[in-house]
Amino acid sequence: MFIVLLGAPGSGKGTVGKILSQELGLVQISTGDLFRENLKNETELGKQAKIYMDKGELVPDDITINMLVEKMQEYMDKGVILDGFPRTEKQAIELDDILLKSNKKVNMALNIEVPFEEIVKRISNRRTCSNCGEIYNITYKPPRIADICDKCGCTLYQREDQKEEIVKNRLDVYKKSSAQLIDYYKESNVLYSAKAGDKVNKNSEDVAKEVITYIKERKIS
Ligand code: AMP
Repeated sequence: MFIVLLGAPGSGKGTVGKILSQELGLVQISTGDLFRENLKNETELGKQAKIYMDKGELVPDDITINMLVEKMQEYMDKGVILDGFPRTEKQAIELDDILLKSNKKVNMALNIEVPFEEIVKRISNRRTCSNCGEIYNITYKPPRIADICDKCGCTLYQREDQKEEIVKNRLDVYKKSSAQLIDYYKESNVLYSAKAGDKVNKNSEDVAKEVITYIKERKIS
């Protein structure tokens, strides 16, 4: 089975994807994580991607698609949950082409809808440990001592792309590209939209449960 996760950055795609991948036995691939791994390892790809990521912009399609194609080859037989890909119509078309070559298709496009004001608050409140990578939220999961990691005592920092202005830019970028993608998957009859967040009192675990029930009822495979 191949599932794509469409929500905005900060909508909980990562968490929902993690639960779905465990429950359905799929491999989760996040293009954002792949880029961050390259950034950390200071690869040529990471250096190219950083220029765009730091501004909250999309990395150009050709760079992103090449990276994804390479990664997907390992898991074509297992099935994949794609977190953060596709983000443009061109990427969606390329993905269909890659899958078609192996007689596969996107079985579900899950669109997680969370109000943007809530997302800005969620992401810009995040802090990361500069040493062990532990993630805090200054409202919901603050460290015991301000700006110090509970686990290892090192300093917490705010990731460049989690600063409020950059988050707003990432959401603008998402708004511009998502409508086309949603239409694309609606036309393919694989779109499933789920509302989440404080207003509807639904967290990522609730969304994942709802989706698993839907997949089982519809016998999607
Ligand atoms: P994410 O963690 O998924 O929000 O991704 C972090 C950043 O990586 C994004 O703001 C983009 O700069 C870049 N990125 C991730 N996935 C893609 C994609 N499919 N196309 C273009 N850029 C991407």
